[in-house]
Amino acid sequence: MTNQAQALNVNITSRFWTRYLNMTVENALPYQWRALNDEVPVDVPEGAAWGENGSQFSHSLRNLRIAAGREEGVFSGQPFQDTDVSKWLEAASYALRRKNAGLNVDELEAHVNEAIELFEGAQDEDGYLDTKFELDLPAEKRFKGLRWSHELYTMGHFIEAAVAHYEVTGSKRALDIAERVANCIGHNFGDGEGQVHGPDGHPEIELALARLYEATGERRWLDLAAWFIRVRGTDPEFFDEQDAAGGPQFYTDLHMPLKYFVQDEPILDKQHAEGHAVRLLYLAAAVSKVGRLLNDQKMLDTAERLWTNIVKHRMYITGAVGSCQVGESFSFDDDLPNDLVYGETCASVAMLFYGKSLMETKPRGSVADVMEKELFNGVLSGVQLDGTRYFYVNPLEADPAASKGNPTKAHILTRRAGWFDCACCPANLGRLITSLDQYLYTVSNDGKTVYAHQFVANKTEFEDGFTIEQTQAGDEYPWSGDITFHVSNPNGLDKKVAVRIPQWSKDYTLEVNGEAVELPVVDGFVTVDASAADTEIHLVLDMSVRRVRASLRVRADIGKLAVARGPIVFCMEQVDNEGPLWLDGMSADANVSESYEPDLLDGVEVLKVKGSRLESPTDDQYRAVDAPLTEREETLTMIPYYAWCNRAEGQMQVWVRETK
Ligand SMILES: [Zn+2]
Repeated sequence: MTNQAQALNVNITSRFWTRYLNMTVENALPYQWRALNDEVPVDVPEGAAWGENGSQFSHSLRNLRIAAGREEGVFSGQPFQDTDVSKWLEAASYALRRKNAGLNVDELEAHVNEAIELFEGAQDEDGYLDTKFELDLPAEKRFKGLRWSHELYTMGHFIEAAVAHYEVTGSKRALDIAERVANCIGHNFGDGEGQVHGPDGHPEIELALARLYEATGERRWLDLAAWFIRVRGTDPEFFDEQDAAGGPQFYTDLHMPLKYFVQDEPILDKQHAEGHAVRLLYLAAAVSKVGRLLNDQKMLDTAERLWTNIVKHRMYITGAVGSCQVGESFSFDDDLPNDLVYGETCASVAMLFYGKSLMETKPRGSVADVMEKELFNGVLSGVQLDGTRYFYVNPLEADPAASKGNPTKAHILTRRAGWFDCACCPANLGRLITSLDQYLYTVSNDGKTVYAHQFVANKTEFEDGFTIEQTQAGDEYPWSGDITFHVSNPNGLDKKVAVRIPQWSKDYTLEVNGEAVELPVVDGFVTVDASAADTEIHLVLDMSVRRVRASLRVRADIGKLAVARGPIVFCMEQVDNEGPLWLDGMSADANVSESYEPDLLDGVEVLKVKGSRLESPTDDQYRAVDAPLTEREETLTMIPYYAWCNRAEGQMQVWVRETK
């Protein structure tokens, strides 16, 4: 068992990630605030995300102002509209730390305080905090329609925001509101007479309460989190009974099976990752975290089992999860269609919450590898390079004509959107990127081994002067794999540093204090003694281009190759290639030249592949086989997947036809 080094002073210096951090602090979060505050009409594309809002404006902050008595008006938006502000508040709270990196966060700080003040004003005397119900429904309807009410989801996100604000600022102002919220929930839910004995249709409160426990040390929040995990799926009639008793109903045209809500069976009995991907992943992350905090073996086993099922059978090469648009859900093993995929940005973000929790239980390179895959591919594809437009769905193959002409592909946008009716993804990206410093290290329980699991250049101070500075040579990671850990230990503490050897790096060289060493790779890490005053660990990873085949179980990828280099998955875009892209092909040993282009897409590695393009002697729709098709030589241009859709709109594909 290990502790996440959350309180560490981690200073990210990576060029790649500093750009993302600063972009988020300076562009994305201010833009999102303006969207939440109805200062900009938001571009909500048709069919981008389901919803009943239909408004050109978010209305999120206005709902809070109305509930706080600052403004007249009526509620507008999704039942969980408050969460857009809560997630923004969480992201912006982490972002305040960028002040240490010289950024001006004064305006952000003012908005953070304004948001907290609004939540404070909107909270009912009994701690209840959900403007949809406060403004639209009588008090006796509360917690009576949990299938779709999202009340605990909404309050959970506020609790998470409050914990973040407390961790960053030390102020208890938001945390006090959150504790009143938790008290209200604890009062209303449980096994006692008159209490509600069932879960919210959207998991989130479990993770939130576990975090509240970590922040406050109040054991009852951990027990309540465990209660919500255990009660889920024990009574399949629960939602129906609430409806029959006259509870409030939402989304009445949506008829989702109990599996969608992860309510068809107890989560601890589940063998496969099923249902709505974000619901399942938020819950699984909580099962992992609560399992560790309670040392509950059944929870720990469940968290491992579901993770293994996902990464072995239900995850795309980009880290995208959720193959199916219907119910934004997981489907079945090895069903990974590239053009019908859902791959919600929030699901990739949730995979990082989940992975982080698994690392806290037991650091393993295989888990950190998946987290890296998500970070550099599935997560970042969700945001435009300037931070102001977003994908909800992250396809591996896109075609504007198909999205326009085929309703089953209408969810695959080929331009990122300024906002969504259901705007869960933008601020989820924000809170992940601004808290990236919490994903770099895990420290063993005895404090002796520091696991450095991500190659994100940083300088971090641990206790008693023990410091790790990670630097990267050349074009820096993820473009160069030349990484040095400068470890300073002036007080001679008994310390070890464990460095991840990624599974994708076939070869690597490792030097300690200038001497080549061969150390065993245990659970994906090499462990170096760092008890001397200074230790220098120099790791050079194999960054050669890899052509990847999928398992023969994956029907969608048969006869195709993907291309990766380091942690980055590449794709073809029509703006660089003639199209249609399905005519292009490459062989497994195709010659690939690579170059770093600093002025393209904020600096990316570009691959030029000696491939070919199919040509037909006729234009007939169908024809008897007479003359063979021909392959003409063609140079294929590939860019990092995360950077697609930042230039002209067009086709995109990750998997490319394999030729001989
Ligand atoms: Zn989302």
